[in-house]
Amino acid sequence: MSRGLNRELRELAEELRCGEDEECRRDLRELEGLVRELDSLASKLPKPFLTDAPQGGGPLISRVQNLEELRRSALSLVEGNEDLADYLVRRRLYLELGRELGRLATAPRDSPVCPVCGRRPRVVVLKRGETGLFAGHDAVARCTCGAEWPYNEWLCPSCRGMGRDNFEVYLFRSKERGETPVLEVRVCRKCGYKLAVVWGDVDQVDVAFINLILDSFNV
Ligand SMILES: [Zn+2]
Ligand SMILES: [Zn+2]
Repeated sequence: MSRGLNRELRELAEELRCGEDEECRRDLRELEGLVRELDSLASKLPKPFLTDAPQGGGPLISRVQNLEELRRSALSLVEGNEDLADYLVRRRLYLELGRELGRLATAPRDSPVCPVCGRRPRVVVLKRGETGLFAGHDAVARCTCGAEWPYNEWLCPSCRGMGRDNFEVYLFRSKERGETPVLEVRVCRKCGYKLAVVWGDVDQVDVAFINLILDSFNV
């Protein structure tokens, strides 16, 4: 279902990041395989164990007893690459513990950091609302680890600036979608934080492309 979005996001990332650079374009085409490979590596990390903590006591990562063991194991799998190792640990936590998050009473609304790994969100996903009489949408923040939690789409995760007027909005369109944007980038007028907004459901590959788009987008 998300395949079309994968391709559209990849094409946007290619345009912003690569231009005519063929090697760069080839790297982006390999990103999907890399994301899947990282998931399979993440599943090889030791099982995370949590300390008991009062409900609502910070992100799960702060409660992992054997975090050092996970880090060491991750570093050995990616030949010492710190960024990739960090991603593997966060992804492992989400795959092991994060899926339950939506059902927990502690799942925080509008949290400025991910309840699993403690990172600030860069992506907001607008999903068709399932509740209520009126057609609407539910906004969730989506972390690179995979976690999603209810989030006000017009709230800056960095400075907490709020409301439409607080953001400069940039629309990215594709040929086939016409007027409907593939993605919006919203830039906080107070602190410059960039948030991407997409519609429907996204997968890990989509999120990887969105991150590249945000990194390449300079106002
Ligand atoms: Zn996270
Ligand atoms: Zn801000």
